[in-house]
Amino acid sequence: MPPPSLYSIRMHATREGHHLSGAERLAPAWALEELAASLVRRALSHPRGEADVLRLTVEAVAAGEVLRGRLPDVTTVRVSDWRSGRYAARQLLLEAGISPVAADGVMASLAAGAAPGGVSMRGAMLVDAETGARLESDPARGVRASRMDIAPEAEAALRRELLRRGLDNPHVREALVLAAKVAAAPGIAAELCWSDDPDYTAGYVCTPARGYVRFPHLKPAGEERGGRAFFLRPGGDPEATVRFLERAVILFDEVGTFHPDRTPEE
Ligand code: AMP
Repeated sequence: MPPPSLYSIRMHATREGHHLSGAERLAPAWALEELAASLVRRALSHPRGEADVLRLTVEAVAAGEVLRGRLPDVTTVRVSDWRSGRYAARQLLLEAGISPVAADGVMASLAAGAAPGGVSMRGAMLVDAETGARLESDPARGVRASRMDIAPEAEAALRRELLRRGLDNPHVREALVLAAKVAAAPGIAAELCWSDDPDYTAGYVCTPARGYVRFPHLKPAGEERGGRAFFLRPGGDPEATVRFLERAVILFDEVGTFHPDRTPEE
């Protein structure tokens, strides 16, 4: 039997004009109703408040359009506080060829709120890995990675691995899928993320050599400013990268390797 055709289902919620919550999934028609309900529930129970505008978009994607991929390897670096987390994350970015000026500029922007007015962006910054220049056309919206998901069998395998490590939560699962799509995009050298959820202090750096490296602390508890930066290699074509991130449909059907936890010194 041919696989069922898929739909891209996306949720975006705002509160008082600011980004509150978003989600991106791929699902067959029969699963859409339940998924839509769960996305509405999520927008109405966000730790930063209840959404006042909530948009759901559902679009069919052609079966021939669906790319397949593998999630990145996963490592946790055990840092004791957000300062040592940021220090270790910066080291990893430099190792991936990101210039100090680009790494420091991005960290400062995320800490200050990278959208105009010092709030979190709806999407990610796209940053030149050499100069640190921001390349996204709209600094409030940024670039949204979309149209990606994990296949059901791979999700079950992923959840087993995460559960054994006490990490089986939607933040980690969704971030891994997003990071996998970003890593597959043309010209991407690395990604840095910490959440805008005030209760969630963890974040990650994802690079081709190290995979998804998680830091339990990248920001202080209670901090609402968070975000993402996608670093573009010098010579990369920002338009091609954005087109892939926003339009390509990709389903991850393989889980990466889980490596033992490390300390920052290792
Ligand atoms: P979250 O991990 O959901 O707390 O998101 C943290 C930040 O990452 C948000 O404030 C956005 O700036 C950014 N972000 C969330 N989802 C996406 C996405 N699909 N594509 C690009 N950036 C995103």
